[in-house]
Amino acid sequence: MHVQTQLNVMITGANRGIGLEYVRQYAQAGHQLYATVRNPAQATLLKSLSRQYPNIEIHTLNVADIRAIGALAARLESLRLDILVSNAGIYPESSFGQADPAVWLQAFQINTLTTYYLAEAFLPHLARSGHAKLIAMTSKMGSIDDNGSGGEYIYRSTKTALNMVIKSLAIDLRQHNITVAALHPGWVRTDMGGPHGLIDTDTSVHGLRRVIAQLDLPQSGQFIAYDGQEVPW
Ligand code: NDP
Repeated sequence: MHVQTQLNVMITGANRGIGLEYVRQYAQAGHQLYATVRNPAQATLLKSLSRQYPNIEIHTLNVADIRAIGALAARLESLRLDILVSNAGIYPESSFGQADPAVWLQAFQINTLTTYYLAEAFLPHLARSGHAKLIAMTSKMGSIDDNGSGGEYIYRSTKTALNMVIKSLAIDLRQHNITVAALHPGWVRTDMGGPHGLIDTDTSVHGLRRVIAQLDLPQSGQFIAYDGQEVPW
């Protein structure tokens, strides 16, 4: 396993929930953070964290805007990126008979396409690392094997498709020594997970960071939960 003291880490959707906690923990550990948010003016918690930790840089990125992803990559042209976490996501509720097609397509844009276009745009930055990790926050709800309750057509299908994107990226980016993984954070108490989630963001991100630290090229293309368990596709 390659050990480097200060890593350059980019997290999308970093203003709340799991994304904000990733930033807090990696910054506290002394790494250099590139925290992206779609609306910095409203990112109060992230901004106060960046006053506490000068190793946090905040960048504007609406992940639904593919051109903006390219523009950010161009602005950070000479950056070496060791870890890129594609975290931003949405959970539009849906059930049989209640699935708005426009909402469904928007969810694909944010939950599925974003990770692919981040990979394309940031390939030079990740390749420069020599041992980079591209991580997508997916969900057990995208596991076909795990689906025992049906429903949630929109969220489930966008994460299942994301999992396939991750699998292909793992194969295509191996030549650049980039490890790619689909991670499930557990059921986490956030705005998305709601108050009945089984774990808090602190526990989830501690586990996720441990999993990311242990990942290396031989494990590329795996679907793993925050506790290190492999999730069936
Ligand atoms: P939250 O709903 O708490 O936060 C979602 C984040 O994504 C926010 O920062 C939000 O920004 C951002 N985001 C949404 N759309 C965009 C966009 N177009 N551009 C930029 N940022 C955007 O979710 P969680 O923290 O709970 O979830 C994080 C990830 O983990 C997601 O991918 C989710 O699917 C996954 N996950 C979560 C689980 C849970 O139990 N919580 C379980 C399984 C997976 P803004 O504030 O501007 O809306």
